[in-house]
Amino acid sequence: MKITVIGAGPGGYEAAIMAAKLGADVKIVEKNEVGGTCLNIGCIPTKALLASSDVLTTSLEAEKFGVFNDNTYADLKQIIERKDKVVSGLVKGIKFLFESNCVNLVRGIGKLIDSKTVEVKRGDGSVEKLVSDKILLATGSIPICPEMFHYDGKRVITSTEALALKTPPKSMIVIGGGVIGCELGQFFNRMGTKITIVEMADQILSSEDEDVAKQLVRQFKREKIKILTANGVSDVNIQDSNVVVTLKNGEILEAEMILLSIGRCSYSKGLNLEEVGIKIDPQGHIEVDGNLETSVKGIYAVGDLINTPFLAHVASKEGIIAAENMMGKAKTGLHKAIPRCVYTDPQVAAVGLTEKEAQKRGIPYKTGSFDFRALGKAQIIGKIQGQVKIIVDEKDVVIGASIVGPEATDLLAELTMAVHFGLTAEVLGDVIHPHPTLSEAIMEALHDVHGKSINK
Ligand code: FAD
Repeated sequence: MKITVIGAGPGGYEAAIMAAKLGADVKIVEKNEVGGTCLNIGCIPTKALLASSDVLTTSLEAEKFGVFNDNTYADLKQIIERKDKVVSGLVKGIKFLFESNCVNLVRGIGKLIDSKTVEVKRGDGSVEKLVSDKILLATGSIPICPEMFHYDGKRVITSTEALALKTPPKSMIVIGGGVIGCELGQFFNRMGTKITIVEMADQILSSEDEDVAKQLVRQFKREKIKILTANGVSDVNIQDSNVVVTLKNGEILEAEMILLSIGRCSYSKGLNLEEVGIKIDPQGHIEVDGNLETSVKGIYAVGDLINTPFLAHVASKEGIIAAENMMGKAKTGLHKAIPRCVYTDPQVAAVGLTEKEAQKRGIPYKTGSFDFRALGKAQIIGKIQGQVKIIVDEKDVVIGASIVGPEATDLLAELTMAVHFGLTAEVLGDVIHPHPTLSEAIMEALHDVHGKSINK
């Protein structure tokens, strides 16, 4: 079986390796660097920067632990250099995996010619045609930049440029208080930039529950991050030294830069979809069936190109499922429980339904919760903000959970499993959790569903 993959982000590269492991002869076409958005300008670089700002914060609070460090400061240039090193190490890792799994990396821009042929235009202008039995499209997404914002990559930037700034701007208006806006807003605030977040919805992290967003807002306010919700932008004016933003309510904001983080859209430019007969929906996502096959037999699509959450772990899982399907297995059933993570301080992590969604769907539910403040481990590490909240249905099955607090994104795995397998709060709460660990907060919240939390 010959397979050609276009795009070497998490969707494409994991599909390529899985298909090769299953015996396919695989070629993967990439126009930039392997690893895609996630590795080069997304998940990994943002978290590498946030790791530096965590070290800074811990160091600034060292006295509380009886440790003294009089000369703590952050150097953004060196932070960026460290981030670049982390990224390049992982890029090498993917290239090594391609080699060891005999996946053939073809550098260039890929385009469909028909259901079996991909044309690749190389940097030197030469063109190669790759003919295969199956094709996987995994070309990802790009930031949404409406014209009115005058995006120029210098004064009005997206996350891509923000991740390469060598000196922190004096001030920045972050348009969009979603995951990327919150993570980068807090990072630059900690680097010394005065941050204002403008969010159209009633709250930042608008798809999460109100109490989850409130906990983050409390911390942002403590750090003097200004948050303006339920407000849009009506005009952007770029001046000599400043950008001036007029909000819908008439308020005027000025800053050195704007960070645009209002979302991303699928990127299928130049793939030749229409000519080949591949259907796209009105939002520009490629339409796929339950097996991730497009409207053209033999051509599959995954990741940010299709209408599933734009997350690296979703792309990876879809890549693996598509690879298995291309190799003749009938795999479906991806989207039972998709974890959602925000790597701010405190971290936010959630899975399944929010309380708001359970109410909207008319599902009878109960909740249990536990504050980190009451937990030995949280006191030990000095991170007492936040809570675990569990939502169960009438049969006690965990249908949703959220964690705000230390290591929330790692702690979520247990609750993701609960939602995935339909475990009850009683069954999961019976499991012994080690002491003293942060995971005890999950156990206590599960017990609290039945009013049996010992430490609440
Ligand atoms: P991509 O990763 O976008 O890869 C697509 C690849 O296709 C790219 O390498 C591109 O160069 C290549 N390509 C495009 N067109 C062509 C063509 N015609 N020919 C050849 N190659 C082509 N997700 C998380 O789960 N966790 C996070 O913490 C997280 N943080 C993020 C932070 C930021 C700042 C951003 C922007 C995104 C973040 N995401 C995060 C989202 C995550 O990066 C994406 O969901 C994921 O990368 C999508 O994977 P993909 O394989 O679909 O596409």
